[in-house]
Amino acid sequence: MSLVGFIGLGQMGAHMARNLIKHGHKLIVYDVNAKVLEQFKADGATIAKFPADVAAASKDIVTMLPSSPHVKLVYTGDGGLLETLQPNSLCMDSSTIDQMVSVEMALALRQKQASYVDAPVSGGVVGAQNATLTFMVGGGDEQPVFDRAHTFLSKMGKNIVNCGKVGNGQAAKICNNMMLGISMIGVSETMNLGIRMGLDAKLLASILNTSSGRCWSSDTYNPVPGVIEGIPPSKEYQGGFGSALMAKDLSLAQNAATATHAPTPLGSMAHQIYRLLAQDPNFSQKDFGVVYQFLKEEAKKR
Ligand code: NAD
Repeated sequence: MSLVGFIGLGQMGAHMARNLIKHGHKLIVYDVNAKVLEQFKADGATIAKFPADVAAASKDIVTMLPSSPHVKLVYTGDGGLLETLQPNSLCMDSSTIDQMVSVEMALALRQKQASYVDAPVSGGVVGAQNATLTFMVGGGDEQPVFDRAHTFLSKMGKNIVNCGKVGNGQAAKICNNMMLGISMIGVSETMNLGIRMGLDAKLLASILNTSSGRCWSSDTYNPVPGVIEGIPPSKEYQGGFGSALMAKDLSLAQNAATATHAPTPLGSMAHQIYRLLAQDPNFSQKDFGVVYQFLKEEAKKR
């Protein structure tokens, strides 16, 4: 099997890359965090000094980076992928970023006779670990490109959805996460209210989860510690999906809403709330379910 490039070995990327290794792929990897590179070296991966080294050695490259500026830097910056990208390469970007940046990257790659898909994911760290992620693929309107991407994505996920043209994957992901941000705040304030009214948290959750208020943020990822064991809210909100990343996704949704004149009043409010968390060192790196704790602390002030 040919060498696969992987850039961005964080909460999500490290598990995704390991799933490719489990399927027999040899990897060349790059991250700005030297510690994580050491771990991959021990697992037999080749370590690159720059993204350009990855593109020189591999024609199939996955990127999993925090946000648009990181993606631009890795692709088009000094020592970036574009410096050495070989014709007929395929870059699969699974980061959640601005739809227009995906389109820009696809055009830049086309100049090098290479292909690009935006392939953001849903399913969280557990999905990344268990290879059950949903990939929302933009750029799959060219069937051979989709089929080639599918070969790799299907080893890291369960549902590989062809969303059509480049950027459509980001559009789907941004919509999903706006809904998720709103619902997580909704569940957090509901649970806080119920507990303050004297209800037991597990009892309240069990009622919500068999009633019309049920949603993923309530039945699978309830933000109240102890309601569901084994998820970040029950592990002091360590790991998982950072609040700063949720603030970034909600800001992408607001930019898109402005550009398309879509009314998103609740999306806008959710963005403001997660912005407060992202600016607070006590919350920014913690799992986004910590909005429950944030609201609880606000309530204590009153
Ligand atoms: P993370 O911050 O844990 O990981 C990002 C990794 O990128 C880190 O290892 C960091 O060192 C590396 N990095 C940063 N700048 C770099 C650069 N210039 N060159 C190379 N490496 C660089 O983030 P994550 O939680 O893994 O999320 C990655 C992406 O996936 C984000 O866009 C996020 O919105 C999205 N996402 C995350 C989750 C989740 O549950 N964590 C779920 C779905 C989607």
